[in-house]
Amino acid sequence: MCGIIGVFNHPKAAELVMLGLFAEQHRGQESCGMAVSDGRAFRLRKKMGLVKQVFTPEVLKELDGTIAIGHVRYPTRGTATEFNSQPHLVETLEGPSYALVSNGDIINYDEIRKRLEEKNVYFKSDNDCELILRFIVYKVEKEGRSVSDSILEVMQDFKGAYSAVLAVRDKLYMFRDPFAIRPMVWGKRADGVVVTASESCALDILGITKQEEVGAGEIIIVDDKEIKRIRADVDKLRNGKKPSHCIFELVYFSRPDSHDFGEDVYSVREAIGRKLAQVEEYDIDIVVPVPDSANFIAVGYSREKNIPYEMGLIRNHYVGRTFIKPDQTIRDEGVQQKFNTLPNFFEGKRVALIDDSIVRGSTIKNLVRMIKYAGAKEVHLRIGSPQVKYPCYYGIDTPNQGNLIANKLTLDEIRDFVDADSIKHITLSDLRTTVAKPDEYCYACFNADYPVGVDNEPK
Ligand code: SF4
Repeated sequence: MCGIIGVFNHPKAAELVMLGLFAEQHRGQESCGMAVSDGRAFRLRKKMGLVKQVFTPEVLKELDGTIAIGHVRYPTRGTATEFNSQPHLVETLEGPSYALVSNGDIINYDEIRKRLEEKNVYFKSDNDCELILRFIVYKVEKEGRSVSDSILEVMQDFKGAYSAVLAVRDKLYMFRDPFAIRPMVWGKRADGVVVTASESCALDILGITKQEEVGAGEIIIVDDKEIKRIRADVDKLRNGKKPSHCIFELVYFSRPDSHDFGEDVYSVREAIGRKLAQVEEYDIDIVVPVPDSANFIAVGYSREKNIPYEMGLIRNHYVGRTFIKPDQTIRDEGVQQKFNTLPNFFEGKRVALIDDSIVRGSTIKNLVRMIKYAGAKEVHLRIGSPQVKYPCYYGIDTPNQGNLIANKLTLDEIRDFVDADSIKHITLSDLRTTVAKPDEYCYACFNADYPVGVDNEPK
């Protein structure tokens, strides 16, 4: 999971990109970067670290231009290093320069990279954004295709998830894979500034009130004269299948104030909480979310059962998301530093502890222990997603099946392992009722029904 943004036609495009990336910081905290064009050449800046640390006012002053693209990264393919961070930039000797950011994962990466290497295309990273970029540049510079035709060829040849923004000279291209797996929105301000981003919360902060999705298999081309929209033959590219938006964006990844895939994220989460409450069998005194991603699930649970919603766990916001730390040791340390219980609060209470998902089980085990140590009489875990049993190949870091606790232990064994009094996940059929078009989602990490296939490398 990463966050992308593109800004067209603003004298301080870099400042807008910085603000948009800051709004999307939850999507990636390992590195960030931006490429800024004045219509002739790009200035590129990328570094490990958070947006506000990297893009200081001094740095932004150097990034002059009216078109800019940006990225926040958490690594899925390729290591957490600066050379794998985005944007990627290709400068040609006589032609234009090309800069690209993308969010997602390409599952036939090895095959396409080999094909390009056989044609003497060289790579500087292991990152799939560079693969898409070099493919497009090769098609344009060596085979004489137009940029938009080259992107259409990407849609034909590349398997996986990608929401991407490409800047070439004085044009901005936004495009999204035919299954529209990762979110991507765009809009135009009254002053003519066009912005695209992974999540609508980034557009909100930049004053874009009228927002639209970049469609499945769509290319939107923006230049000084017009905004042109091209749609690939998605029925053919999807083999008659429907789009497959990542349901986890609504359950966990996206910000609750975002609007993804035609859904308000917070209201889907609230509906999930209501569903969990409807099948509750135990007497519960208080409902407590694991902040922040489970907050609205707990709100729904609390409203449905009419029992108090309590912020019994306090989160230190300066630690960052535990799930998107790339290493288990860093993750474990993060959990302990990240949460604390309210003093003199849990004594004797029967708690419904709400979380969005259980992946490795390490976070929730620590939290149940903390709450019991604080005096809770019972802790009942209620989880806003079905059991995560299979890895994601489309841009989320669930690296191997063996690390998923639901693959190693039965539900009763997990309950004992985390020392909860009971544990219940929302069922897949209940989860499907919380969105308007349930057939247009990917649920593969619960049921292994991968809409675009899996990576050759077993996870
Ligand atoms: S496998 Fe899971 S996390 Fe990955 S795209 Fe599908 S629903 Fe989302």
